[in-house]
Amino acid sequence: MAANNGVGNHAGGLIVSFGEMLIDFVPTVSGVSLAEAPGFLKAPGGAPANVAIAVSRLGGKSAFVGKLGDDEFGHMLAGILKENGVSGKGINFDKGARTALAFVTLKADGDREFMFYRNPSADMLLTPDELNLELIRSAKVFHYGSISLIVEPCRSAHLKAMEVAKEAGALLSYDPNLRLPLWPSAEEAREQIMSIWDKAEVIKVSDNELEFLTGCDKIDDESAMSLWHPNLKLLLVTLGDKGCNYYTKHFHGTVAAFPVKAVDTTGAGDSFVGALLTKIVDDQSVLEDEGRLKEILRYSCACGAITTTKKGAIPALPTVPELDAFLNAHH
Ligand code: ADP
Repeated sequence: MAANNGVGNHAGGLIVSFGEMLIDFVPTVSGVSLAEAPGFLKAPGGAPANVAIAVSRLGGKSAFVGKLGDDEFGHMLAGILKENGVSGKGINFDKGARTALAFVTLKADGDREFMFYRNPSADMLLTPDELNLELIRSAKVFHYGSISLIVEPCRSAHLKAMEVAKEAGALLSYDPNLRLPLWPSAEEAREQIMSIWDKAEVIKVSDNELEFLTGCDKIDDESAMSLWHPNLKLLLVTLGDKGCNYYTKHFHGTVAAFPVKAVDTTGAGDSFVGALLTKIVDDQSVLEDEGRLKEILRYSCACGAITTTKKGAIPALPTVPELDAFLNAHH
């Protein structure tokens, strides 16, 4: 029997999510600027951590690999992963640097604006030597973003973890999660995001990221396919309340979104990715079967939609009973 790496009783192959976990400070009222906000609520976040929790909520097996500050907030975040059934065997704590913070405004339309405190934060200081290679080698899927590529030593840790996971036979999954204010320049962001493009077998970008990466303001099949590479098995372009477009070597199409009243879209993409990875980790043949893939993407869109109906990312990630109730109601 394979080692379970401290991951509860969850079923299936292990999904390891690599990168940052931080605290979002969200205004207590929506539609205000950061300066106008009368107060903030702390909400745990960080796209890779959200994905790990999304997987676990849906009954999958997940682990998070990254670094937190050896402070109240860092230990609080590690506790949240644990409570949610995510293995913490890949977490390191930095004695010198704080857990990252992001102040996030919720504008009237539910969209987000960010202000980060990373001077540097603990996540940026993860070194290749600190990686739990045994855990990474046991991954069936290895998922990551691009924030961990911005500075050393975290960038080298990211590249090493990716290489080790790949060598051990994991499927590589990439959601760049562009956060432009964190990069020295837009050119640097584009260059670094694309520097690992050809490694990933599953890539998910949002419509805005597609525009940014292609430099073209059209969201169509041609611009999406300009990002295609030969190792890719599935390219997804998420379109918010318009669902998603999918592309494989042999077929492509669209899956519609579910109509919901969105109050906060934070985490919708992470919920979507977590759902997708949970469904493909044990059977990658679905990537070659359009009917089954569409069904999985419908399930992923449902998870994304549910996540927009509550404030914050992690509190809004659905469990299987919530998802079943939602799908029954929208049949
Ligand atoms: P990201 O959070 O990465 O920007 P999206 O906002 O495109 O990603 O959301 C991912 C998925 O979540 C979408 O493909 C869609 O299925 C679902 N979703 C997002 N926003 C909404 C919304 N307002 N209404 C319904 N579904 C949504």
